[in-house]
Amino acid sequence: HHISAQVFFEIVKETFTPITNQENINFTMDIEESYLWIEPDLMQTVFFNLLDNARKAIKTDGQISIIGRNTLQDYEVKIIDNGCGIDSQNLNKVREAFYMVDKSRSRNAGSAGLGLAITDQIIQLHHATMTIDSTLYIGTTITIHLKKGENIEKI
Ligand code: ATP
Ligand code: MG
Repeated sequence: HHISAQVFFEIVKETFTPITNQENINFTMDIEESYLWIEPDLMQTVFFNLLDNARKAIKTDGQISIIGRNTLQDYEVKIIDNGCGIDSQNLNKVREAFYMVDKSRSRNAGSAGLGLAITDQIIQLHHATMTIDSTLYIGTTITIHLKKGENIEKI
């Protein structure tokens, strides 16, 4: 589907704001308009998983931001958190199914270590890319490159 970035991320924001409000996390979004070529329901799952991970990584004074920008070739989205971060040894394993850095995270009802594995599959389906940059105790930045669509209302 061709969908407006601002419409798509407004839904992401509406879905996630009640959760960040409840946990006193400062959640900000800055989305440059563009048209994206995505399957909206699947891509909502991606952003929900990534925001859920950011939320779980935060203890106090949490800050999560989503930034969306047009690039020459595609559309770049960054999800930035100031949570616990991931050390370099675990960083290349977190996309594996059932992999969790802190096994005690399974105390969080519903944590299975599947979020990033599912996210990775959906990203591949879209011929998109996702990179994870993280610094232990500082935070994590996820960068996603999405294919651009067209404003079909104008064709
Ligand atoms: P589920 O997503 O199935 O509820 P999960 O969140 O533990 O469980 P993944 O989303 O696959 O599983 O993430 C795997 C692991 O990667 C997490 O358990 C966590 O240790 C680490 N991780 C992922 N995102 C972040 C992040 N933003 N900050 C710190 N650690 C993270
Ligand atoms: Mg997860």
